[in-house]
Amino acid sequence: MKTFILASKNQHKAEEIKNILGADYEVITQTDAGAGDIDVIEDGKTFEENAIKKAETILKAVGKPVIADDSGLCVDVLNGSPGVYTARYAGENATDAENINKLLTALEGQPAEKRNAKFVCVIAFARPNEKTVTFRGECVGRIAFSPSGESGFGYDPIFYIDDRKCTLAELPAEVKNSISHRFNALKKFAKWCNNL
Ligand code: IMP
Repeated sequence: MKTFILASKNQHKAEEIKNILGADYEVITQTDAGAGDIDVIEDGKTFEENAIKKAETILKAVGKPVIADDSGLCVDVLNGSPGVYTARYAGENATDAENINKLLTALEGQPAEKRNAKFVCVIAFARPNEKTVTFRGECVGRIAFSPSGESGFGYDPIFYIDDRKCTLAELPAEVKNSISHRFNALKKFAKWCNNL
């Protein structure tokens, strides 16, 4: 059994990762590893920089292998914005509704074919005395004209998936979780772990 520490206080995220990695792995939150008081400031210019910073900061504190993730939304016609600012697009403590409204306003007048976007997730894995490695997963879609759907979180109600003909917030959680940027990044990481 290998144990990895997750650079997050979110137990739900730890379970999601453990389920994808499989029975040979234990994933525990930084809180359960005794580093619950550390808050890493996400001030990188890329998802990779932020994920690496989180993983290496927690590694320094716990001295054991650490997984960290960073994710966000990139809209083509906005040159990849909001990108690393996704969570705080409409301000430091913005709600999901405020972020969504700001994005819909920024895209006003743009036709469907100009609304291409992707969710990106980068997983960083940091170990003592090894170079930190990263894995990137994406989920491609377009920004809808108005929100629809109740499930999920964040920008899910305005992220339209052409293949499914609905937004991520209209998909059952298990379907979203099988096509998400996070799942795609974690799958790459899990495959890499099998060769450790
Ligand atoms: P984090 O790095 O996982 O905290 O993600 C940053 C921000 O991206 C979140 O606050 C959400 O607004 C947005 N985000 C990330 N993943 C998703 C998703 O699967 N659906 C909707 N929004 C997401």
